[in-house]
Amino acid sequence: MRTDCRIKRLIADGERVTGAETTRGDTYDADAVIVATGGASYPATGSSGDGYRLAESVGHTIIPIRPALVPLETAGGIAQRLQGLSLRNVQATLRVNGKKTQSLFGEMLFTHFGLTGPIILSLSKTAVDALHVEKDVVISIDLKPALDEQKLNARLLRDFETHSRAQFQTALKELLPRTLIPVCVDLTGIPHDKPANQITAVERKKLLTWLKDFKLTVTDHRSFKEAIITAGGVDLREVDPRTMASRLIGNLYFAGEVLDIDGDTGGYNLQAAFSTGWLAGRSAAD
Ligand SMILES: Cc1cc2nc3c(=O)[nH]c(=O)nc-3n(C[C@H](O)[C@H](O)[C@H](O)COP(=O)(O)OP(=O)(O)OC[C@H]3O[C@@H](n4cnc5c(N)ncnc54)[C@H](O)[C@@H]3O)c2cc1C
Repeated sequence: MRTDCRIKRLIADGERVTGAETTRGDTYDADAVIVATGGASYPATGSSGDGYRLAESVGHTIIPIRPALVPLETAGGIAQRLQGLSLRNVQATLRVNGKKTQSLFGEMLFTHFGLTGPIILSLSKTAVDALHVEKDVVISIDLKPALDEQKLNARLLRDFETHSRAQFQTALKELLPRTLIPVCVDLTGIPHDKPANQITAVERKKLLTWLKDFKLTVTDHRSFKEAIITAGGVDLREVDPRTMASRLIGNLYFAGEVLDIDGDTGGYNLQAAFSTGWLAGRSAAD
């Protein structure tokens, strides 16, 4: 067992891998080599992307790598105003070129650059792919997914009746978190000090539409540094799934995130690493 030791190069004779060389220049002979170097995300954890170069050096194809499960940057300074606000039980829908592609219910968080949190990370893979081909990407948040439009309208009428003499911004207190109220006022264009009993049906409709469809334009994604996993990697068609052995060269195996496998949040990536690692280890030992 050698730790703190970086592999620089695979040694191969054209038909099989016969060993590896470290950055210190030491070489090791090996009957089998397993590349389990991880992806290119969170480089501070040691995932330098070396595995892709090692695999390529012996003829493997690398499916282009992209950050996945990654926070998203948004336009307009809205997220910045809401920095630190966490929303639970909301529905976030990803729209690409205006078309709904994916919708998830759960928790999300506003940051100084945009959006993060479980449902945003899970939507990010499709968002990243769309951004890379310069499509328009929008996240629409339904702040009241448990209420359909009719029920929400009834709720608004009730709230405005209860707080009939209060200003619009005060009447929103039971409906929205405090930091969201000024943003709601700006985006709906309803004067903050308008008495609740003077809010028109048109204004109520505007508010209702915003509560069900609070849009944020996605301009970019964060880098590999902040991506929980890496999408892309060693082409799965070149790896035997029964053994994790290379189909191109002898004595070489792959396991974990270096492969073109990426899963949703929820432990699927660790499971993929454990399962492929177990199989690669058994097969290499055999
Ligand atoms: C912040 C964060 C949170 C996460 N949360 C979850 C989660 O909740 N659930 C989940 O399923 N997944 C999660 N993941 C993803 C999960 O950790 C990875 O998918 C998994 O660790 C990949 O395992 P691996 O063994 O392939 O690679 P890694 O765990 O990255 O290990 C690769 C190892 O190879 C070493 N290495 C790299 N290059 C070389 C080289 N040239 N020579 C020698 N050694 C080298 C690295 O130093 C590292 O120790 C998270 C990741 C991050 C960053």
